[in-house]
Amino acid sequence: MKKIAVITSGGDCPGMNAAIRAAVRVALAHDAEVWGIKNGYAGMIAGDMRVLDSRSVGDIIQKGGTFLGTARSEEFKTLAGRQKAAANLTARGIEGLIVIGGDGSLTGARHLGELGIKFVGLPGTIDNDIWGTDYTIGFDTAVNTALDAINKLRDTASAHGRVMLVEVMGRACGWIALTAGLAGGAEIILIPEEPFSEEEICKKLLESRTKGKQYSIVVVAEGAGSAIDLGKSIRAKTGLETRASVLGHIQRGGAPTVSDRLLASRLAETAVRALLNGRTEIMIGYQCRQCVEVAIEDAVGKKKAIDPELFRLAQVLSQ
Ligand code: ADP
Repeated sequence: MKKIAVITSGGDCPGMNAAIRAAVRVALAHDAEVWGIKNGYAGMIAGDMRVLDSRSVGDIIQKGGTFLGTARSEEFKTLAGRQKAAANLTARGIEGLIVIGGDGSLTGARHLGELGIKFVGLPGTIDNDIWGTDYTIGFDTAVNTALDAINKLRDTASAHGRVMLVEVMGRACGWIALTAGLAGGAEIILIPEEPFSEEEICKKLLESRTKGKQYSIVVVAEGAGSAIDLGKSIRAKTGLETRASVLGHIQRGGAPTVSDRLLASRLAETAVRALLNGRTEIMIGYQCRQCVEVAIEDAVGKKKAIDPELFRLAQVLSQ
């Protein structure tokens, strides 16, 4: 295989640029031509793509977002849309594709594969919800952003003796909440994977006051509910003063951490090598510090479970 393309799709995440850079430079080192597709599958359908050289991916490893742009495309979900996209690749002699994105983007790649396009996927999402990889590109940066916010909110919570609720991202998955909550010393962590009741939360918060705690941090995964609504309800039920912060898209931005840059670079190298060797319909995951091939049908359409040991430890440490 001598001509490949790189695409970022779906929700962006810090580290996508590091992955593109590595993919391009590894491909060039193997004498392959590399195309960059703009704005996800929408750009593939529009034929918005160009050849990349080594310099075109300079000065991006440290930047969040994706210099190729990303998008969501309803047209790509139709067979006609995918046929148009595939035709745009074959017209340029592009034989294979590196797709960097989340579950939706990798599912889209799988369907593109049914039209004969070879592809290798990379897990790119802050949510860390993709099966077959210990970590996704972007997760570490997002967790550190959430942790920084928790640290700052802790200062003001302690000054006023308040219950501070922090809502973090993660879609239907609690990885960001659990990891940032444990690292940030949260008293309560609410995630969609673990059932909870408001009564239990209120009881724990009141008990903690009798134990001498002056303030509390409650981390809420967006998939577990609204921190604003919960804050109002806790206040009404306990009389404790509450404040809620919804961190939102700040978690998707920022310079990628060392871990994310290394992860993106390593996964991308393995992906390009695999693609150039004719491998297809796989995602490259990171398991036990190794880059591994995961069949695409195993990686998509299911949610990675949270680590129950981490949840248990967070509970023990919040006493
Ligand atoms: P993410 O990749 O971050 O999970 P989305 O779920 O929005 O983001 O998916 C990104 C894009 O992937 C969609 O806009 C669509 O073009 C494509 N896609 C998602 N699901 C499918 C599907 N079932 N079939 C074809 N394309 C899909």
